[in-house]
Amino acid sequence: MILALFLALTLSSFAAYEPLEYFRDVPPEMERLHRSDIEFLYGLRASKQSEIHRKFFGGPDGRAYEDFLRARVRFIGISDCGNPNSAACAEGIFADSTIWLTKSYMKPSLPQVLRAQIMLHERMHLDLRIEHEDCPADYPLASKIFGPLAKFPSCDKDENGSFGPGVAMLYQVARNCTNCSEKVKADALYYADEYLKHIYQEEARARVSAF
Ligand SMILES: [Zn+2]
Repeated sequence: MILALFLALTLSSFAAYEPLEYFRDVPPEMERLHRSDIEFLYGLRASKQSEIHRKFFGGPDGRAYEDFLRARVRFIGISDCGNPNSAACAEGIFADSTIWLTKSYMKPSLPQVLRAQIMLHERMHLDLRIEHEDCPADYPLASKIFGPLAKFPSCDKDENGSFGPGVAMLYQVARNCTNCSEKVKADALYYADEYLKHIYQEEARARVSAF
């Protein structure tokens, strides 16, 4: 009995995460926005999922996203990420455990579900320690966000790069979220379809977007 109690306590302490820590120079309004995005991400609920979503996350919803994120991420910092257009990055001296947000993260035009996706995307960069490759020179797809993607410097070959899990989450929200508004689902589908194009193998795109 005592052993069982001890084991239960040990297991529950493994399951709980230390709160995310924000570096001191992160502005309060950025921290507030990010905290609300994380709460949104963890609070997503669904009861069914696609095969690829199960492969990436295990569970169908925010509880699995929390595990996925917190297995790797401990700190949130602010940076320009060397690119005024990028909203976040995951390189630098605290590469093991920090996601850096830029001022672009605060742009009112970014919907919340997209910012949630960015967290999963950057978390993958921490895991993989690789950046993206150029889309192929003869790549025929064009993005509504970035225009023609041929030679665009942000593609993955297949679902095993940084785009895979975030895009799978967006499709999951669009199709299976049980506590999302229609606006959130529509935003999720729009960005899922657009970011899916950054995976240039056609068969991989089919796997990530499969129901
Ligand atoms: Zn990336």
